[in-house]
Amino acid sequence: MALVLESDWSQALGWTPSIQQQQQLQQIYQAILQGNQQLNLTRITEPSEFLEKHLWDSLRGVFPPLSASVTQPLSLIDVGTGAGFPGLPLALACPDWRVTLLDSTRKKVAFLEALAAELNLPVQSIAGRAEQVGQMAKYRASFDIATIRAVAAPAICAEYTLPLLKLGGTAILYRGQWQAEEHQALESAAGQLGGVIERVDAFATPQSQSVRHCVYLKKVQSTPPEFPRLAGIPSQKPL
Ligand code: SAH
Repeated sequence: MALVLESDWSQALGWTPSIQQQQQLQQIYQAILQGNQQLNLTRITEPSEFLEKHLWDSLRGVFPPLSASVTQPLSLIDVGTGAGFPGLPLALACPDWRVTLLDSTRKKVAFLEALAAELNLPVQSIAGRAEQVGQMAKYRASFDIATIRAVAAPAICAEYTLPLLKLGGTAILYRGQWQAEEHQALESAAGQLGGVIERVDAFATPQSQSVRHCVYLKKVQSTPPEFPRLAGIPSQKPL
């Protein structure tokens, strides 16, 4: 099965994939269908749905909101990347950015390493937990952007991502619905981690009109050294 990339799809993002990028998107799709036979990568396999809910959705969090203001290559980490979303399509669309894919499931990371090599994309990958990686000097406070989609509740996502950001960096929480209570809980958690909610972007996906929100957290102070807490604590006792 082939993905059909409509031109209005890319217009809405302000990004037109080159022929090579279109081929790479197809390769990602084929590899994930194949990988799904051994690994539980995704339930979304129908071509137009894959295009909308994985590829378009991945790019929408960064394009157009951030890309217009970007003048130099950025470093981005995708926390809990799973089958590579949103990090892999972002690496493909921004070839001069330094993209790191992080997941705690070693098999998924091995799959992504093989796929990135096949696509000739220079992504880094880490098999590990966000709680541990966020305490490692090599990675702490070293990224401009941290993305996180479908991993945990907002306060937990904040604890996974904010420690990894440089001062002035942005965490992008990819969400479905967005409720007032979630906003309050996130505001309080982000405050303890050195972050503020800068903006919440509400939109619908282009085909099925599914509700989406992207929440942009800005790191305005360094994260206190006790965060992220030990593995498992952020989800057991969310801030
Ligand atoms: N972001 C992808 C995958 C979501 S599934 C997508 O939107 O399609 C959630 C993924 O997060 C799983 O692959 C799981 O292994 C990973 N994960 C959960 N907790 C984690 C943690 N603390 N550190 C790193 N990865 C984690």
